Amino acid sequence: MARTDISTLGEFGLIDHFTKAIHPQNASTKLGIGDDAAAIDHKSYRTLATTDILLEGVHFNLEYVPLKHLGYKAAVVNISDIYAMNGRPTSLLVALGISKRFSVEDIDELYSGIRLACSEYGVDIVGGDTTSSMTGLTISITCLGEVKQENLVTRSGAKPNDIICCTGNLGAAYMGLQLLERERIAAYNNPDLAQKAFEGKEYILERQLKPEARKDIIEALKTAGIKPTSMIDISDGLSSELLHLCKASGTGCSVFADKLPIDYETAAMAEEMNMDIVTCVLNGGEDYELLFTIAQQDYDKILPMQDVSLIGYMQKAEQGCNLITRSGAEIALKAQGFNAFEN
Ligand code: ADP
Ligand code: MG
Repeated sequence: MARTDISTLGEFGLIDHFTKAIHPQNASTKLGIGDDAAAIDHKSYRTLATTDILLEGVHFNLEYVPLKHLGYKAAVVNISDIYAMNGRPTSLLVALGISKRFSVEDIDELYSGIRLACSEYGVDIVGGDTTSSMTGLTISITCLGEVKQENLVTRSGAKPNDIICCTGNLGAAYMGLQLLERERIAAYNNPDLAQKAFEGKEYILERQLKPEARKDIIEALKTAGIKPTSMIDISDGLSSELLHLCKASGTGCSVFADKLPIDYETAAMAEEMNMDIVTCVLNGGEDYELLFTIAQQDYDKILPMQDVSLIGYMQKAEQGCNLITRSGAEIALKAQGFNAFEN
């Protein structure tokens, strides 16, 4: 493949090169790329703002993550934060630190992933910054969104007896990462064998490399007439996110190990790697599923909803934040760590 050195375009040439194909789709984008700042009009809505920074060697490893996937994921993790507030993402700002190792074509790949995510979620790229870096690739993305004040869902609204719900299934992205790490090491010796090791494991790889934000769930909740009492997206693992909801809401919780949603491939991979599946699900992270609570009165409305599991309930703070194992034992949830839970 051709390799164009970034110096042939220069900073402004590079910005022009990867922003020329960007055309705003949202009426709220009054002014996009090309001025000192973007102008967004959210009218009577609240503006939501979130940002994430990704550093090469800390948050991603380009040995096994394709640049296009990395761009997609970097955008999606921000978009997911806006949905977690029950909002609609509208605008993205993309700041890049690029070292000499990267060519114009590399940055095109990265940017094609960012653009794909934006077109799938209806988000306009409205600005950013581009600079050279001495320490590999840095991607800092900011996402803006809108929400009607009365629809805003925070982490702090849960009450004792609220039902705890979780979308999709958990632990898959983490097991995908374990597989990639294992095969990265194996690939040094035999690339063909490594390729073979991915067969039948496409789902967990996809969950790690190309996560999706749960726009569909936010829409389904609206259609069902349910406003969660609290919500968070699962980026650091279920256990840690549950503790966030409980702390912010001033509650405790009980979640049931046998209610945790787990995909077959995830369970098989954990077994193959001799890891405790419940521990992986609680602490894995990067699921980008939604964790939310609803009032008891919404129970009948949530039951028919696709891809939502009821995993437990909120309780008084003094009752603690516990996992109930299959045998009925109560174990205090921890934010991190790999103490194998007994079944
Ligand atoms: P300034 O010097 O005012 O910060 P820049 O020259 O850095 O402006 O950027 C020019 C325009 O290009 C601005 O609108 C900025 O938001 C946009 N821009 C710069 N880098 C990126 C990027 N990586 N992605 C999207 N837009 C960018
Ligand atoms: Mg700038």
